[in-house]
Amino acid sequence: MVSAPKVTLIEGDGIGPEVIGATCKIMSATGVKIDWEVCEAGAVVFKKGLPTGVPQETIDSILRNKIVLKGPLETPVGFGEKSANVTLRKMFETYGNIRPIQEIPGVLTPYSGRGIDLIIVRENVEDLYAGIEHMQTPGTAQCLKLISRKGCEKIIRLAFEFARSQGRKIVHCATKANIMKLTEGLMKRTFEEVAKEYPDLEAYHIIIDNCAHQMVKKPEQFDVIVTTNMNGDILSDLGSALIGGLGFAPGANIGDNFAIFEAVHGSAPKYAGKNTINPTAALLSGVMLLRHLKEFEAASQIEQALFRTLTLDKVLTRDAIGDKGSASTSEFTDAIIHNLGKPFPNYKKRDYKPLRLPHVPAIPDLVKPHTRCVIGMDIFIESSSQITEIGSQMEQLTSNTSFIFKGISCRGVKVYPSSVPQLDLSDLLCCRFIGQDGTAIEDPQIYAILEQVSLHYRWTHLEKLHVFDGTIGFSKDHGEN
Ligand code: NAP
Repeated sequence: MVSAPKVTLIEGDGIGPEVIGATCKIMSATGVKIDWEVCEAGAVVFKKGLPTGVPQETIDSILRNKIVLKGPLETPVGFGEKSANVTLRKMFETYGNIRPIQEIPGVLTPYSGRGIDLIIVRENVEDLYAGIEHMQTPGTAQCLKLISRKGCEKIIRLAFEFARSQGRKIVHCATKANIMKLTEGLMKRTFEEVAKEYPDLEAYHIIIDNCAHQMVKKPEQFDVIVTTNMNGDILSDLGSALIGGLGFAPGANIGDNFAIFEAVHGSAPKYAGKNTINPTAALLSGVMLLRHLKEFEAASQIEQALFRTLTLDKVLTRDAIGDKGSASTSEFTDAIIHNLGKPFPNYKKRDYKPLRLPHVPAIPDLVKPHTRCVIGMDIFIESSSQITEIGSQMEQLTSNTSFIFKGISCRGVKVYPSSVPQLDLSDLLCCRFIGQDGTAIEDPQIYAILEQVSLHYRWTHLEKLHVFDGTIGFSKDHGEN
């Protein structure tokens, strides 16, 4: 006899026990056997004094079972430093955040009847949300946007594989590559290369701001959208609003070895224990989990029972129709269970197949250039002195060295030797030095210049200017030739 799959179950905080309780009850009523391993995380754990909010027993359970159904976890103010949600996502390297945005029959929105049915595949561990920030000067902060070729390749392959696993046909990659040519551009270039391996799918690049515009204007044109972390965060919340709000927005965090299924919403503490909230988002996350377990029939059964409940029975929770005539969480749950096994008219059953997780080599240095050299450096200094004064000082410093002083920029705009007259300067300035005749430079030459600069200015950081395989690896300033 095949034993039931083990799944780690975290009920979560606030409304968590209600939405997860309803979800498990409905999943169980389909007849699918799951061996739930109930574990703790979140507020209750913070209160016991564990700053991560995730105890070792929960970590061990996830390591064993590899699949999690999770309720929302509160981030208490005053306990613990980090959100337990973020800890779980990072600890299990769930690099892909999957957010289906599907019109829910019976839930009236300005978009009802348009047939919205798309998936946002958001990179979940890189980009600005790695949260690497530094005050560069007392008045200027910096956040590093780190994007790796490996990270791009993983999320893009996951998006194509997701499309295939659901019989979808079109994948859009949404980036801001027109402005951030190296970081967002890496996502775009990787997408264009990887797309060649999926000739059965249509692949298009779209600029992120236009993508947001198109999602509001004509969301039904999209099938799968893959994007970087912060773009994806914003687009996916926009998408949730198109289909009726947080009560209806499911999600999953997928990694090479682990999958965490959870609704998008939080613990909504004001509704905790009131039996009024909508469990649909958690239930649809459970539907995603069932498909992950290859229980395609049970997943479709739940969707159809849910749609019947909302449309034919007109049983809806307070968030969808207001207080008057709304069903309680438990009435709504029972109505869905009552409808299990009954078909929903015009149900669009996709050609679901098991998801093939992409395999990108685990080596850290995925990109191995044939040639590489450093041709200069940017030294960032803190100064409120006259730009012309700083510029001529830097020229003097380099006069008998192997460097040419190229100029100064402020927030990416050239301010020396020539400048935009009306520019409002900040106190962080970038001084660019290039090796004479474009020749490669060595570290001791960099140290010598840095030492000279530090005699006159407070320097804050230094960036080497790389050339990999003959391609320059740094941006030019606005106004720089
Ligand atoms: P929230 O819990 O998502 O609630 C915001 C509002 O959304 C609620 O007040 C309610 O709107 C509506 N809502 C959310 N879920 C609903 C449901 N199932 N049914 C009906 N309405 C629902 O966001 P928050 O208040 O910003 O965050 C509360 C806590 O949750 C925080 O500690 C936060 O850190 C945490 N959080 C956790 C996760 C996670 O675990 N993944 C995600 C987000 C936030 P109305 O007030 O209009 O009725």
